[in-house]
Amino acid sequence: MKTIAFLLAVLATSATAQSAQPHPLVIAHRGASGYLPEHTLEAKAMAHALGADFIEQDLVLTKDDVPVVLHDIYIDTVTDVAKIFPGRKRADGRFYALDLTLAELKQLRVLERFNAKTGAAVYPKRFASRETPSSFQVSTLEEELQLLQGLNRSTGRAAGIYPEIKKPKWHREQGHDISRIVVPILTRYGYATKADACFLQCFELEEVRRLRGELGWHGRLIMLIEAKATGEDGTDYNRLCTAAGIKEIAPLVDGIGPPFGRIATWSTAGEPKVSELVKFAHAEKLVVHPYTVRIDELPRNCPSADALHQMLFNTAGIDGVFTDFTDVTAAWLVRAKKR
Ligand code: CA
Repeated sequence: MKTIAFLLAVLATSATAQSAQPHPLVIAHRGASGYLPEHTLEAKAMAHALGADFIEQDLVLTKDDVPVVLHDIYIDTVTDVAKIFPGRKRADGRFYALDLTLAELKQLRVLERFNAKTGAAVYPKRFASRETPSSFQVSTLEEELQLLQGLNRSTGRAAGIYPEIKKPKWHREQGHDISRIVVPILTRYGYATKADACFLQCFELEEVRRLRGELGWHGRLIMLIEAKATGEDGTDYNRLCTAAGIKEIAPLVDGIGPPFGRIATWSTAGEPKVSELVKFAHAEKLVVHPYTVRIDELPRNCPSADALHQMLFNTAGIDGVFTDFTDVTAAWLVRAKKR
């Protein structure tokens, strides 16, 4: 009897946790990346303080197989690697996280994203750290999980995590199985089931199948979709955006992460034309978390950040959005009485 009472109590707790999840979700894209260099622990702490429901971690491996939080397999657009380890570039002229050990990566400074050829800032109005000495560092997945779980405890406000396996096929071709390394770490930190505050995401359909199959991931899983027709790994994104494509992946995943262009486009008069993708996904009980709100880079012909939020949440009816500006998106949801 005691055991049954305990099980019921556990079920009640997890049901409460589930229903307590806000809807729609504010997902901090690479942290508060509108304000601080992307994927730094500082940017993650700020996103937490600004009220993000989920905070994103893009993941690549180091030479010694440690998952670190970086958007690209390249490190020459967000660090000073070219200055610190000039001899480490490959024949293609690029510097790769996978060619440096964690100890070496820790010697680099993380900078606001710039164009590696011209040196120009990608978002000129954002934090200008290129010429300024800074202490921003590359962080590991575990360092970030420890930071966020500490903030969840100290603030009493639980933010979830939203890790992405970056270029798994490329990693495997280089002899490194990134998903096989990441999944046990997530599990160890308490992210293992669909009741846990975690969405794992990936752009590669074959890897999504592996995660659900041989790698035994039982948490929530998001199929990312690109604007282009086909991924480097062969994933057919145009097909995934049809009713038949959505039906096919529905048993595997909990939702999709498309770019805004797959949800709507704007006429030159500033009127949005919304696609059927959200309808297709909701018919299969999949959530839709598109990317990315950037108030300094709105979609073509979209007249304002308000118009963008209006289209996403009111017209298309999405379930959450990736945003570089957690506070702007959260404030819009409050004004729209969705919070
Ligand atoms: Ca990402």
